[in-house]
Amino acid sequence: MTDICSLTLPELQTQMTELGEKKFVASQIFKWLHQAKAVSFDEMTNISKSLREKLKKSYAIYGCTIEKKLVSVYDKTVKYLFRLHDGERIESVVMHYKYGHTICVSSQVGCKMGCTFCASGIAGFVRDLLPGEILSQIYTAERDLGITISHIVMMGVGEPLDNYDNVLCFLRLVTDENGKRLSMRNISLSTCGIVPGIYRLLEENLQLTLSVSLHAPNDEIRRKTMPVAKRYSMEELLGACRDYTARTHRRISFEYAMISGVNDSDENARELARRLRGMLCHVNLIPVNSVKERDYVKSSAERMKSFISVLENNHINVTVRRTLGSDINASCGQLRRGEIL
Ligand code: SAH
Repeated sequence: MTDICSLTLPELQTQMTELGEKKFVASQIFKWLHQAKAVSFDEMTNISKSLREKLKKSYAIYGCTIEKKLVSVYDKTVKYLFRLHDGERIESVVMHYKYGHTICVSSQVGCKMGCTFCASGIAGFVRDLLPGEILSQIYTAERDLGITISHIVMMGVGEPLDNYDNVLCFLRLVTDENGKRLSMRNISLSTCGIVPGIYRLLEENLQLTLSVSLHAPNDEIRRKTMPVAKRYSMEELLGACRDYTARTHRRISFEYAMISGVNDSDENARELARRLRGMLCHVNLIPVNSVKERDYVKSSAERMKSFISVLENNHINVTVRRTLGSDINASCGQLRRGEIL
């Protein structure tokens, strides 16, 4: 079976032509899938019944279904536990802002990266998500909530650049003229720092926002919490980031989880500022969120203030990420391939 939702329009056109159908049928199907968010072939009422039956023999709409849904009493953030066609599970989060609705999508079932502060890899890695399975998180949430999602952050379970081809296909599909037509500028992709992946992405020259999970000012600290830092040094990583901004002219967002006594001293801030000097970037600080299997403590408000002032005095743009969905374990690093609530 082929997941029809993972095919680009040109791919679908080729395959429909091979089935002896007219090319425009592919556009009709594509619109059913990506604009009407159809979850079955029988919804496609302008497609002949015989073709629908033929399609069912070789294609499926894998998608995902809602297994559980939690809504934050504080800020109405919604966390979904989705079930995939093979019984695997992933989580996604919908956040409501003044400017629109944002979804945080997963890109893999589990994660191989092993960052010590993050819950996503604790239950191990199972498989990559297909482009259609990433899309389906958006369409299913939109259908369920009766909203139109305006922004996407690829910050859920998994490492997007470790599932490069499917993620790229997803980006093409979600921005397609005949599909959801989202602007690349409304998409953020976060990576733990897979350097060859950053160079591949640079070549695509997309207008999305690249977020890089840095979380440390040097290799010594970074290697304690992020195994990927043993594969790529910070010098290589920041070099790739510089090349990325030179090519795309897009500002990079560095994510930095503030962990008490680990990476939050003024000296750490000074070193970070030194390394980022002159870069087209901004630093997004996140007080580390709790993960029940770990005992990291978030930095105090005073410590954060002091860290921020060191960065600002060194002319580094810095913001603190607002924590949403804290009562439903829906914050950064708390998503899993199952559920614990
Ligand atoms: N694998 C990608 C995508 C995940 S994005 C990446 O690492 O960037 C999730 C973000 O939340 C990353 O920046 C991640 O480092 C961060 N994060 C993980 N655990 C966290 C925690 N306990 N508290 C705060 N941020 C965390």
